[in-house]
Amino acid sequence: PKIVIAIDGYSSCGKSTTAKQVAARMGYAYIDTGAMYRAVSLYFLQNHVALTNPKAVQDALQLVHISFNFNPKTGRNETCLNGLNIEEEIRKMYISNIVSEVSAIPDVRYAMVAQQQKLGRRRGVVMDGRDIGTKVFPDAELKIFMTADPTIRAQRRQIELLQRGEMVGLDTILENLLKRDYIDSHRSEGPLRKAEDAIELDTSYITLDEQIEWVVQLADE
Ligand code: C5P
Repeated sequence: PKIVIAIDGYSSCGKSTTAKQVAARMGYAYIDTGAMYRAVSLYFLQNHVALTNPKAVQDALQLVHISFNFNPKTGRNETCLNGLNIEEEIRKMYISNIVSEVSAIPDVRYAMVAQQQKLGRRRGVVMDGRDIGTKVFPDAELKIFMTADPTIRAQRRQIELLQRGEMVGLDTILENLLKRDYIDSHRSEGPLRKAEDAIELDTSYITLDEQIEWVVQLADE
């Protein structure tokens, strides 16, 4: 029977890269919940939504439609906001700088969590995020909690940004990662924390292949 695999943890521990490949290996769908919060952040920025105005936030959320569309050309899923491909845009640093503030708003979380639960209702999904094992799918059959040394995480993120053409200093990236981890861990709704029944994986000194193999093995048990 198909299961739900929840992969939570701090920023840039390799959650999405691992989740994507595990999903491919198992023939499961991959849902990047961080992309959803990034998409909301982009919409709020573009439409000058005041984060402190609950009515404005609620109204705006009604107009945010997020989908993941498979692109046969790249062989990858692309995040779309109201039908437009925003996959590249939402990875940029200016979005990383506001996404934790946006995702700490309870109404934003209620809306995203409801969509995520719908996307995974038939199971057979690998979902990565911060609150998947605690809030979105507390009944997930397999829960992984990823950690890694902050400096190593910053280095990995720097390479990723460079590959997308954005040059950002290591200190700036590290500061952003730690700030996001702090806000994500201290919000009232759906804070980042390890589910009691999650298995912890420190990815500092293992390769991507080892991470993937480890999760697939656990899923097979
Ligand atoms: O996974 P990624 O780093 O792209 O996520 C960006 C941000 O989205 C996180 O720092 C966090 O603020 C928010 N997020 C969240 N809950 C999730 C996934 C992401 O609050 N399930």
